[in-house]
Amino acid sequence: MTGRPEVPHISLNDGHSIPQLGFGVWQIDDLKAPEIVGTAIDAGYRLIDTATDYGNEAGVGRTLKGTAVPRNQLHVTTKLWNDSQGYDQTLRAFEASAAKLGLDVIDLYLIHWPCPQRAAYVDTWRAFIELRKQGRVRSIGVSNFTTDNLERIIGDTGVVPAVNQIELHPGFQQRTLREAHERYGIVTEAWSPLGQGRGLADPALKAIADRHGRTQAQVVLRWHIENGFVAIPKSATPARIVENIDVFSFALTKEDHATIAGLDRADGRIGPDPTSFGRERFLRRLVGRFSRSWI
Ligand code: NAD
Repeated sequence: MTGRPEVPHISLNDGHSIPQLGFGVWQIDDLKAPEIVGTAIDAGYRLIDTATDYGNEAGVGRTLKGTAVPRNQLHVTTKLWNDSQGYDQTLRAFEASAAKLGLDVIDLYLIHWPCPQRAAYVDTWRAFIELRKQGRVRSIGVSNFTTDNLERIIGDTGVVPAVNQIELHPGFQQRTLREAHERYGIVTEAWSPLGQGRGLADPALKAIADRHGRTQAQVVLRWHIENGFVAIPKSATPARIVENIDVFSFALTKEDHATIAGLDRADGRIGPDPTSFGRERFLRRLVGRFSRSWI
């Protein structure tokens, strides 16, 4: 790679923009965050994707404080965790996240999971709208929302999320949900864009990678970029951190896209199902109020 790659930005429906490739920090230890996230910033990443649940907002905050890259060139996402859903709880949780990150304003704040059983995501969304109105958050979005969840918050508040961050990789391409995003002008952001590394050995991907003189991870990330998604790959290995952002000087062919389209699997989901995620812990807490030993 020659020089630091320039990552294109894509426009959001609220007038702001977001780098198309970012650095995900799930499972990066808080203490190690400054070193690893610092490596990513040096490699050219300008979007950092954290969450309260990752336990490393403070480590990300220390990284931001220590970097020479100006704040206005960095795009920071964090996410509200499930147990803080609800209007007042959300406002409090936001303050805690902002303090840990050491930021007055967060670029993108996401509702991490809809948790429909809690029936609180609409009130949570109203608090997000308020935070945006107060200027504490530039853009507001959601994560793991189904089409129904999206239509509910849009119908009840009239405010369309800028982003829906969803599980998306060649093994699980989410075509129906992406169509809904297109209808409403919501940017699709891909989590686990590399499928956590699981499908990378696929011979079809290997053949494409060999033809371009690239790695399978680079082919998959290029596929995300050419589809117009935002992708936030994670790696703690410096060479891979550099490899994963070096995807802006080659292009896939129509045939490559057709081959990758064929890797989609109805049962390709590797993470939790958003229609039920959060239910078990929520039920346990609810029942726990009456009987600690029931479930
Ligand atoms: P990913 O698809 O980014 O895969 C990461 C794994 O792939 C690494 O741990 C490594 O094993 C492997 N890998 C990375 N680069 C590689 C390379 N160049 N060659 C070969 N293998 C490579 O999966 P992820 O970490 O689950 O997701 C990325 C980010 O998405 C997270 O860090 C987090 O920020 C976000 N995320 C969000 C949600 C959500 O609910 N919103 C859920 C999961 C993840």
